[in-house]
Amino acid sequence: MPTCKKCGENWTFGSSIKKALLYAKGTKCAYCGTPQYISSKSGKRTNLIYVIALLSVVLGRPLFDLAGIPYLMLAIPVIMIVMVIVPFSIELSNEKEPLW
Ligand SMILES: [Zn+2]
Repeated sequence: MPTCKKCGENWTFGSSIKKALLYAKGTKCAYCGTPQYISSKSGKRTNLIYVIALLSVVLGRPLFDLAGIPYLMLAIPVIMIVMVIVPFSIELSNEKEPLW
């Protein structure tokens, strides 16, 4: 889980998910109130995870000729895996860093 760069506290899973979904906006640390941003390096890594997941869900349907329930059996686990992996890939920064 990400660690606050100001106070050093580990963020909760829920805070990390919220942070991952709100890349551009700073999220205040629940412990010290300091705004924290996703670091440029981990922002790129998180976006790569999103792209790989999106491609596997979008391309999984025509590649494996899936539809209906089998398609959901591919898509839902991929989304769940992303939701679990992303919080662990986040590193925080005290300042907003450009993504590129
Ligand atoms: Zn803090």
